Amino acid sequence: AIILGIETSCDETAASIVVRDQTGRGTIRSNVVRSQLDEHAAFGGVVPELAARAHVEWLDHIIAQAIDEAGIGLNEVDAVAATAGPGLIGGVLVGLTTAKALAASLGKPLIAVNHLEGHALTARLTDGVKFPYLMLLVSGGHSQFVLVRGVGDYERWGGTIDDALGEAFDKVAKLLSLGHPGGPAVEKIAQRGDPKRFRFPKPLLREERLDFSFSGLKTAVRLQTEALAPLTDQDVADIAASFQETVAQIVGYRAHQALERFAAQFPGEPIRLVVAGGVAANKRIAEALRVPSEEFGAELIVPPIALCTDNGAMIAWAGAERLALGDMDNLSVAARPRWPLQDEDMRVKSHGT
Ligand code: ATP
Ligand code: MG
Ligand code: FE
Repeated sequence: AIILGIETSCDETAASIVVRDQTGRGTIRSNVVRSQLDEHAAFGGVVPELAARAHVEWLDHIIAQAIDEAGIGLNEVDAVAATAGPGLIGGVLVGLTTAKALAASLGKPLIAVNHLEGHALTARLTDGVKFPYLMLLVSGGHSQFVLVRGVGDYERWGGTIDDALGEAFDKVAKLLSLGHPGGPAVEKIAQRGDPKRFRFPKPLLREERLDFSFSGLKTAVRLQTEALAPLTDQDVADIAASFQETVAQIVGYRAHQALERFAAQFPGEPIRLVVAGGVAANKRIAEALRVPSEEFGAELIVPPIALCTDNGAMIAWAGAERLALGDMDNLSVAARPRWPLQDEDMRVKSHGT
């Protein structure tokens, strides 16, 4: 089936054409992403109203480009998938409403996709990963371990009790005046820094549960920054490197625990750890996950960076997986600013699991 995927839940206007063949293999035919960095640059973060307006202005062009680059006609699309949440409601409404109009006018099914499910299933598109697998979702709004048993069948194994990891990177970048989005900027400058110069706290790490807390760490970085002011370039690089090293150690330690739990729950099964979300682009964090993965003989799957950050292909693919199970949505389906992965509504309706 040929699926058009639309993503507008944050500050990327994105559309993609993905083909899923009968064997369940996916191919990306086009994947167009327009980032709104310029619109929000002056504000040091994403401004919801500006984001919604930019989606309105650009979405039609982005969809047309995705169709064009795929070398197909709009009428060849078999289903239209769009993010229905979670995310900034104004943007989600732009994408979902457009998808409804397209689905209605083409007479093709609509699939309302959970953005997090898009991140969760990406590794099946890129690497054909089989169920079950352990997923670490680390993005701008989420940081959690999820057991992925099947499409729509997710079990949360713990997550952040305050800031998301990407959010922590963004806030540290702001403290260090590195601009937005912070993750790539922190990683870049950290290359020149001394990761051992500062010892930042690792909250919650002594506790058994698979939770994260990053807000105390951010405060520690702020206090250190204030204590050193005015910062030299080397101070900035050292703080960035020490912060990144601290979160890498936290994530690596928790991954070890999560893999241990997975191994105990699925004896004899291959162990797979999939990393999803924008922070998966970070090389030091990927490295920190490699160590426990090797220890457990687990396969570590990190999709290409462009598919870890927000994009339309992951939404098209999640739509394709649901369509293959006969799971489609009504044109009256609502946008949802909050929509946890393990929600009742995530269950595949036609199959009941
Ligand atoms: P969510 O998916 O939870 O709704 P989101 O869609 O905004 O949030 P993504 O687009 O998946 O999140 O990821 C963006 C986040 O990833 C930002 O916080 C950004 O700073 C972070 N990020 C991107 N690249 C890197 C990197 N190299 N190192 C660390 N963090 C990074
Ligand atoms: Mg984004
Ligand atoms: Fe995302």
